[in-house]
Amino acid sequence: MDKIRKVLLVNPSRFLYKEICVPPVVLGYLASWIMQHNDVEVKISDEAIGHNAINDINSFKPDLVGLTAMTEFSLRAYEIANEARKRKILTVVGGKHATVLPEEVAEHVDIVVRSYGELALSEIINGRRDRIIEGKRIEDLDMIPPLPWDLLEMHKYLKSYENAHPFASVFWPSKLGFIMTSRGCPYKCIFCYNSSEDRKLQFMSPQRVIKDIIELKERYGIESLCFLDDNLFSHRKNLKELCALMIENKLDLKWMCASSVNYVKEEYLEMVKEAGCVQMSFGFESGSERILSLLKNNMFTIEDNLRAIRLCKKAGIKVAGSFIFGIPTETESEIRQTIDFIKQNSLDSVNIQHIKPYPGTELWNLCKEKNIIPENFSWDSYDTRSFSDIFSYKELSNFLVEAVNSSNQYTLRRAISRIKSQPQIVFRMFYDPRFTHIIKKIISNLLKSFKRVRAD
Ligand code: SF4
Repeated sequence: MDKIRKVLLVNPSRFLYKEICVPPVVLGYLASWIMQHNDVEVKISDEAIGHNAINDINSFKPDLVGLTAMTEFSLRAYEIANEARKRKILTVVGGKHATVLPEEVAEHVDIVVRSYGELALSEIINGRRDRIIEGKRIEDLDMIPPLPWDLLEMHKYLKSYENAHPFASVFWPSKLGFIMTSRGCPYKCIFCYNSSEDRKLQFMSPQRVIKDIIELKERYGIESLCFLDDNLFSHRKNLKELCALMIENKLDLKWMCASSVNYVKEEYLEMVKEAGCVQMSFGFESGSERILSLLKNNMFTIEDNLRAIRLCKKAGIKVAGSFIFGIPTETESEIRQTIDFIKQNSLDSVNIQHIKPYPGTELWNLCKEKNIIPENFSWDSYDTRSFSDIFSYKELSNFLVEAVNSSNQYTLRRAISRIKSQPQIVFRMFYDPRFTHIIKKIISNLLKSFKRVRAD
């Protein structure tokens, strides 16, 4: 058996995310772990920011290609694995899709890793060759070395912010860094991958997290930070300590995070606000009590959602909400209740998703039961970037498009009304690097056209 010396870790994607793009931190932690425990050279290929994994295989010539894949990119992952296998390179796939459908994935690759990746990948590097491996977790997340920002090419993700439309500055603060401090979520919403697996909730210590944040700030000059945790508020003691450390270290960062509505308490909001929190995201999901309890497994009510909004507004923290349309059995009037919820609560940012049933989730089973999964369906049918009604009840599909348009128009109107009430935002847009970037692009295109006309 040949020794593994070079490892290419791949984030497959069918789309190039031209605007704000989140670094693949899970691959980053895998890389930092295997580099610490094995004598290997590692490269990360992220197709979401324009890498081409097959070109990277040709140029880097790895001994092992490790892929992670969400369901929507699993076919692209198989394509890359196939190319690697043609070149006699060992292929390993992990991630959510591989965890729920290991037999399907094993038809396309040499080894499938279910659940946790770090320890299993180290074992594979050292010769383990089972077809399907149940990955064991690292008990103490602080044992994982910091993210290898250079390997991740952090500057490209910071750059992706510059390419975003300047209008986005109404919602997004500048120079945005990302960090993930925990794994898992205590809830089991029926549409979420977390419902398909029993994962122990794990947290990094606040002391470890603050070190990583300081490194991001010192090395990349970030001015704002997005916590990628599913539920940052779920460990209140850690949150309290982390906020105290952020204040003590005078980080002066604007940050945002996601939480479940039930964790929102006045005293915590005061604390996070003082530590720099400017926006919280919640999965409100629906304005209909029936649909909300279906999606959230009876965990939350509309009143819980309203309470979280009230408390955040009182504390001066912006509220971003996500919603899902097109749930099996959802009626037109229930969708209207969601639109009303969005409009009546003056949310600062709204994200509307059409139903995407992932295999292994309860929602998937429900859709199967109701015959909503179309026959011509493939994993490529999911489109993470835009509204797609592939899983709709036929009789609702026209209305769903109308509903999404209406909600999107609301988001635009809301942005315009914020500009009207805070005209300083316009000045901020002028000073925004992306605004100058776009103006420069326009001028350079005009100059090019002018030169072409003169040459003709
Ligand atoms: S609260 Fe969020 S992360 Fe947790 S299970 Fe529900 S949707 Fe998933």
